[in-house]
Amino acid sequence: MLPSEAELQLLFASLNNRYFNGAVPDCRLAYNERFSNSAGRITYGRKPLLVELSPKHFRKYPEALEETLLHEMVHAWCYDRFRDTGHGANFRRKMRECGLTSIYHDLGHMRPGKESSRRYILRCESCGFELLRRRIPSKLASCRRCNHRRYDPRFQLTIHEIVETRPVDGALRQAASAARRR
Ligand SMILES: [Zn+2]
Ligand SMILES: [Zn+2]
Repeated sequence: MLPSEAELQLLFASLNNRYFNGAVPDCRLAYNERFSNSAGRITYGRKPLLVELSPKHFRKYPEALEETLLHEMVHAWCYDRFRDTGHGANFRRKMRECGLTSIYHDLGHMRPGKESSRRYILRCESCGFELLRRRIPSKLASCRRCNHRRYDPRFQLTIHEIVETRPVDGALRQAASAARRR
């Protein structure tokens, strides 16, 4: 059974103490039933930060939930400290301190999608319009649907990180063919 959202908050608090000295800023934790290819994601453009997890995945792979939550917490911590949203040096250093070995969510039986795939959604919270991007945009943008003439802070696009996952099938096949080549 999946932990309730209240139980997620308790898990968050205990991970926060164990690995961050309590320095991860408050996050709202929620499940998002609409996720099909993402294990989790974090939204930066709001307070508190929003961390969403895929109930679909974690019903199947409950053992992977803590690691995914921890991954998103490292993002929240990096964002709070350095305004850094990527998987660069800051992220990796902290990630290793937390005992995570990969920037990807290793879902136990899941493997990450291709590194080249698009990782970010820019979303207008007002009308729901979404854009997919490979990189984090370098400047703030607002929704062109809600105001097509100029930048409008009321319709600022929020950034969601997507963490792709892929069923074990593909990863196993790759491992098998790599082994054969050796
Ligand atoms: Zn990430
Ligand atoms: Zn809009």
